[in-house]
Amino acid sequence: MLNIILFGPPGSGKGTQALLLKEHFKLLHISTGDIFRNEIKNETAIGKEVKQYLDAGKLVPDELTIRVLGNYADSHSSPEIQGIIFDGFPRTVPQAEALDAFIAEKNSAINVVLSLEVNDEELVKRLINRGLTSGRSDDSNDEVVRHRLKVYYNQTAPLADFYLAQKKFVSIRGVGTIDEIFAHLCDEMNKLD
Ligand code: ADP
Repeated sequence: MLNIILFGPPGSGKGTQALLLKEHFKLLHISTGDIFRNEIKNETAIGKEVKQYLDAGKLVPDELTIRVLGNYADSHSSPEIQGIIFDGFPRTVPQAEALDAFIAEKNSAINVVLSLEVNDEELVKRLINRGLTSGRSDDSNDEVVRHRLKVYYNQTAPLADFYLAQKKFVSIRGVGTIDEIFAHLCDEMNKLD
């Protein structure tokens, strides 16, 4: 089983690259953002609880996020899957610790953290552009976009040290064409056994 974390700020291209990697390496793609948006769309109890956080560009509390992720992974595992690609999770140190425990229970481990590096100016441009067509409330407002970047640097970026200490952190240039970035990610994936 491969367990890959796709890491990087909002707008760094995690969702786009995760879909390509999922197809190419036959992985289960778990995006906590997609899961939450789906719950909101279906007006479930979880959706009602998390909507306020997504709309404001704040993180959903760890306890709820960890529970939702565990339920999703357990109910979507299948024999054809060669591993999991985590997209948008973990976003805090407690989430990373919970993920380590969850994966260790399955006698597995995180293989690599692939971090897409994109400068802030480019990120804001991409997010505002996406907001014009995605219908995502958190992309449409300049203030919310900037708040999400702040949350990323305060709460999520410190995770780089957590994975650097485990020698699992790899930086990938996230600017360029989708194909170029995908090729760099594949190079790193092919180094895994
Ligand atoms: P992006 O990477 O563009 O910010 P995501 O789709 O990953 O978008 O996340 C959208 C929103 O969903 C976040 O701003 C946050 O409110 C919530 N969210 C997603 N993943 C997590 C997580 N692991 N922990 C807490 N909140 C999360």
